[in-house]
Amino acid sequence: MSQQILQALGLAETNSGTYLGNGEWSKTTDAGVLAPVNPATDQVIARVYASSAADYETIVRRAQEAFKVWRATPAPKRGEAVRQCGEALRRHKDALGSLVALEMGKIKPEGDGEVQEMIDIADFAVGQSRMLYGYSMHSERPGHRMYEQWHPLGLVGIISAFNFPVAVWAWNSFIAAICGDISIWKPSPKVPLSAIAAMKICNEALRAGGFPDIFFLFNDAGTELAAKFVDDHRIPLISFTGSTAVGRQVGVRVAQRMGRSLLELGGNNAIILDESADLKLAIPAIVFGAIGTAGQRCTTTRRLIVHEAIAAAVVEKLAAAYKQVEARIGDPTDPKTLMGPLTDKGAVQRYLAAIEKAKAAGGTIVTGGKALTDRPGNFVLPTIVTGLKNSAEVVQTETFAPILYVLPFKTLDEAIEMQNAVPQGLSSAIFTQSVKASERFLSAAGSDCGIANVNIGTSGAEIGGAFGGEKDTGGGRESGSDAWKAYMRRQTNTINWSDALPLAQGIKFDL
Ligand code: NAD
Repeated sequence: MSQQILQALGLAETNSGTYLGNGEWSKTTDAGVLAPVNPATDQVIARVYASSAADYETIVRRAQEAFKVWRATPAPKRGEAVRQCGEALRRHKDALGSLVALEMGKIKPEGDGEVQEMIDIADFAVGQSRMLYGYSMHSERPGHRMYEQWHPLGLVGIISAFNFPVAVWAWNSFIAAICGDISIWKPSPKVPLSAIAAMKICNEALRAGGFPDIFFLFNDAGTELAAKFVDDHRIPLISFTGSTAVGRQVGVRVAQRMGRSLLELGGNNAIILDESADLKLAIPAIVFGAIGTAGQRCTTTRRLIVHEAIAAAVVEKLAAAYKQVEARIGDPTDPKTLMGPLTDKGAVQRYLAAIEKAKAAGGTIVTGGKALTDRPGNFVLPTIVTGLKNSAEVVQTETFAPILYVLPFKTLDEAIEMQNAVPQGLSSAIFTQSVKASERFLSAAGSDCGIANVNIGTSGAEIGGAFGGEKDTGGGRESGSDAWKAYMRRQTNTINWSDALPLAQGIKFDL
């Protein structure tokens, strides 16, 4: 099965992890080897040669050369290049979705869904390529015209997390491409095969369409090259998706060299259920939000803030739904499976440690709380914990696993205060039939997150909106809306077409 998926995508037992441009994959074999493991079986899927410092230099040099051509290519033509990548991804959706499921461990529909997100952002980018608008302004001086224009930024560095092995790259690189930038990607060492496959699909489409190289790839055996990348003044923007701990270091280092960073970091997302909530909508939203991708999404529902009058009934319904999911934990590539494994043994240990901490802080495990040790792989039971305060350390922490903390409330003000009282600020939701409660939640005094939803859960997002969050989530926005501006530099232009030289603010400077 795994051999078929690899073959369908042109991958071998051992692969180069470095795309150097000009259709050339590096021949480096002495910079370390990555061995991505199927998290459902503990078996190595295939091997990937990591990149050397010399490979990295070649990539940056070729990317700089490519930028000179690409920045002068009309934006709608750049859009056409991305359109052809989208078409190629449509043709390979099934195989790439299967590889994502195999390597990352998310279930096949979620793997396919990730590739669909790539296709969707490609479509979005094509349209955006004709809409890189700047304002024109009225000058205070006669015979003057003022406007702003958006120019390409240059080289964009993309560092991505393991849980979205391909979509995060597309969100960044397709928008960067229509903006006239060249992308260099360093994926997570846990999922290099998905990255290589995505690069092969898109770069072959670009070459077939007669376009230059705009996407480069390197894989790091450790973090030495990644650190060099972050510090590299030739790369004006580093878009980093990953944990808050690493993102904080990346943000500081990029700022030190006056570069720009776009940070997409951890979340600690809550759903509020008030007394009027429609449970027919809320229960599936909570279950999918908490258990989808085995709790390994940045937008996973980690806290349920529920009105005390309905808390017991809601927990009972959830526990029953969790039991149904328990029966369908397994191989993520099997269509019957609803929940796959955690990414590795370390993730299982962190899940178990969080359960122990929750118990020590006075929490009750309503359901779950165990690793499945009767099989290979990194399987755990989805877990519901009651009896903890929002302020408990374990509740305040993003444990990347399917653990849901249930926190009762009395008043909406209290619920919103609780929802906001965590370090992270990514996604949030309320289930209510009250217009007042919904508007209160969405108001300036409501949710402090980058994403706030009503009668729909926290997990996942459409590419049309700007995606990202506040506080420890890093403040970055990518994907839709006007997120493209992060990949360009703004220039204000004033043109004097009069015969005089009036100075601004009426200043006289007699010579
Ligand atoms: P991670 O922070 O361990 O790794 C992320 C990336 O950083 C990887 O490519 C890794 O190799 C790289 N890295 C590690 N050390 C580095 C260094 N010193 N310099 C530069 N790069 C370095 O995160 P992870 O475990 O892969 O992903 C899970 C985390 O990502 C969670 O916290 C999740 O919430 C977050 N995430 C956020 C979003 C979002 O859009 N907000 C999306 C997906 C994941």
